[in-house]
Order: sequence, then C-alpha cells, then structure tokens
Amino acid sequence: MSSRVKELETSRTVSQATSRGTLFVVSSPSGGGKGTIIRHVLQVVAVENLSYSVSYTTRAPRQGEVDGREYFFVNRETFEEMVAAGEFLEWACVHGNLYGTAKNQVIEETNAGSDIILEVDVQGAASVRQLLMDSVSIFILPPSYEVLKQRLIARGTDSPEELAVRLRNAPDELKQYSAFDYVIINDEVERASAQLASIIYAARARCMRQESLVLEVIEKFKSNSIIES
Ligand code: 5GP
Repeated sequence: MSSRVKELETSRTVSQATSRGTLFVVSSPSGGGKGTIIRHVLQVVAVENLSYSVSYTTRAPRQGEVDGREYFFVNRETFEEMVAAGEFLEWACVHGNLYGTAKNQVIEETNAGSDIILEVDVQGAASVRQLLMDSVSIFILPPSYEVLKQRLIARGTDSPEELAVRLRNAPDELKQYSAFDYVIINDEVERASAQLASIIYAARARCMRQESLVLEVIEKFKSNSIIES
C-alpha cells in the first residue's frame, strides 16, 4: 500500500474525531443515470459542502465534454505513468478504456472537511470499499433493461459497438449490487436524487462523524450543570 493511501486512511480514521469529509462512491451500469442524479444533487438539491471527484480517463472526449470538468482526458502513456507513480486511489479498465480516481483531490477535499462523490464503476467501488472502510457506497439500479437501453440510445454518445459492449456488460455489473451499502432504483430523477441526498445527510448525522462536536456540547453541558447545582 502506498504512503499516499496510508495518509488518506489515517485521515479517514481521524475523520471520526475531526469531521473530515466522507467519500460517497456511486456506481451503476453505463446509462444507469448516476451522472444525472449526482448533478441533480449537486446543482438542484444543492447539498452544501459536497464536491465531485473528476476522474482521469484514456477515453476520447465526447461532444460537449470539457477537459477538467467531466474528466481529465489523458493518453494511455500518461495514465500508466500516473499508475506507476501511485497517483491513483483506484483505477480500472472499463469497457476497454482506463479510468482512475486521483488521490490529490480526494485528500484535499476530505481534509478540508468537504464530502466528495466518486462516480466509478463496480470494480472501482470494490477497491475504495476495501481501502477505506468508512466510505459509503451506493448502487444506482436502472428500473429495467429496456429503460437502460433506451437511455444509452437517447444519449447518442456511443458508437453501435460501444453501445453493444456497455449493454453486454450491464448484467454482470448489476450482480454486484449487494456489495454496496445502499441501492437506489432510478425510476424517477427527482425521487432518486432525494434518496441520494438523504443518504448523504444520514452519513453526516452518524455519531462517529460528529464526535468532536458532540463532545464539545456535552462538556459545556456538564460545566453549566455544575454551575447551576
Ligand atoms: P463513461 O465512459 O460512460 O464516462 O464511463 C464508463 C464507466 O467508467 C462508468 O461506469 C463510470 O462510472 C466509470 N468511471 C468513471 N470514472 C471512473 C474512475 O475514476 N474509476 C473507475 N473505476 N471507474 C470510473
């Protein structure tokens, strides 16, 4: 395990006492709607103190995608150099392209007390769960194969071959759902987004997460009760 991951792990352990941010790992098959739900939570529900991890990929940008916004688009050589340098928290080959979560942004945001959403495939989610036991993982389940197919076609971003690969891989990805902490059935964006926001709020209300704040309140409570008695 690299020292950077150790640093992150240590910070996650300490996070219980110092309100460091939590990692929310969101996965679904391609076209499952996780991107739409995450955008809705960030922009419409506008959950405060929440950021989005921009991954690195060797996939070519789609029309309208901006480098540094949807992804950092890099060639395979650069990606492999980053892997060798231990710059990724996790990385995986998905549908023939490489995708990875850089440690830097995750460390900066969580150390600053911000929660962060990672949008990764099921392999990436498994890696993060193994590395960081207190991350929260959420699987977004499309309501049916037909809806998934329709969404991928309507998105219009994939060639027929890419579309076929993504549809072929979907059943295996669905099988992984039970390894996640939560499952959201994405039948309706607003409802599904509200559910994701609720999961984030619930994680923030955990005793462990609020320990330092709670101890402060209890200390004050005790000293005031002594003064009164
Ligand atoms: P797309 O090419 O449709 O943008 O993404 C394909 C798949 O790669 C999606 O399931 C997406 O969540 C996943 N993905 C995106 N970024 C990462 C990452 O950093 N790590 C991993 N493991 N998967 C990622």
